[in-house]
Amino acid sequence: MSQSRYARQMVLAEVGAEGQKKLAAARVLIVGVGGLGAPAALYLAAAGVGSIGLIDADQVDISNLQRQIIYDSADQGRDKVTRAATRLQALNPEVHVAAYPSRLTAANAIEIAAPYDIILDGSDNFSTKFLLNDLAYKLGKPLVYGTILRWEGQASVFWAPHGPCYRCLFPEPPQTYVPSCAEAGVIGAMAGIIGSIQALEAVKLIVNGSQTPVQGGLEPLLGQLLHLRAQTMETRRLALRKNPECPCCSKAPSEIVLRDLNDACDTAVSQEIPNYVAAELSQGNRWQEFIPLDIRESQEWMGGHLPSAHHWPLSKLQEGHLPELPARSKPVLVYCQSGIRSRRALQILRTAGWQNLAHLSDGFGAWRGPVVVS
Ligand SMILES: [Zn+2]
Repeated sequence: MSQSRYARQMVLAEVGAEGQKKLAAARVLIVGVGGLGAPAALYLAAAGVGSIGLIDADQVDISNLQRQIIYDSADQGRDKVTRAATRLQALNPEVHVAAYPSRLTAANAIEIAAPYDIILDGSDNFSTKFLLNDLAYKLGKPLVYGTILRWEGQASVFWAPHGPCYRCLFPEPPQTYVPSCAEAGVIGAMAGIIGSIQALEAVKLIVNGSQTPVQGGLEPLLGQLLHLRAQTMETRRLALRKNPECPCCSKAPSEIVLRDLNDACDTAVSQEIPNYVAAELSQGNRWQEFIPLDIRESQEWMGGHLPSAHHWPLSKLQEGHLPELPARSKPVLVYCQSGIRSRRALQILRTAGWQNLAHLSDGFGAWRGPVVVS
């Protein structure tokens, strides 16, 4: 191992020679070598992560190059994993790279992921995100999660023995319309930021070691969801709670059966509707396509709420009383003040069998659209 290659990180007290050895021994599987996976792979190879697996079934398209910085214009039409592996080997010949030019499925997931210590989610579809969550939980491995849409991004680390899993947050894939990056757009640098955060979290996990997730001042985003809003550069860290009724981590790992989800949800990136998207829907006269459901308490409701909203406080939901809404054929858009209580309300409604749900991820507090006072 070349000491000088890693000198800038080995001088850090938290890394040192010991941490560098851990990095050299570490095995990270990157699922999806796109906007998130590309920067993550480059930084992990550069840091000397000894074994990197890349899985992706796609070929490089010219529209990828705006954010998938591991590829060149000359790579168009070629397998992503092959090109990415070549690039990583050129960057750091000390690293072993395995390329899997296929899609991760319930059938191949265990065999591919088993040899790795950490799984990094570079996917852009719900089908893979839910499969990865169940896979990581079943195998007891940390999952470094990331997602991006437009000017916003989120990252977290799900590692069930040390915190909640992705399904604690989202028990099932969304049943309602959510725009994809292809439809809604995404800024390239945001992919770079969130993918780099994922690489950073993987390095922290490796240096900390598998048995001690919080040590030496390096605290991975376990049980924390980092949200970055690039328009204003606001960041929020939401503490996530373990859901005792989680369809995944409330069971024993051996009971988890991996399954491939309906491809219908494959275009979705997030079931959360940020306020600016909701405002655009409103301006585009598509507001009538939703049933807004305000789950704040009466005082908050009386201070102002969304037009045509129904009011049903979370406290009633938690007592088991469900609202009666007209025409549930439309998606119900749940909202609270800041987007936290509405997540809980979604879980309750889903458990009660409701489908076609979405929520305002920034809450009424950040709402800049029309408001009525009753
Ligand atoms: Zn869970």
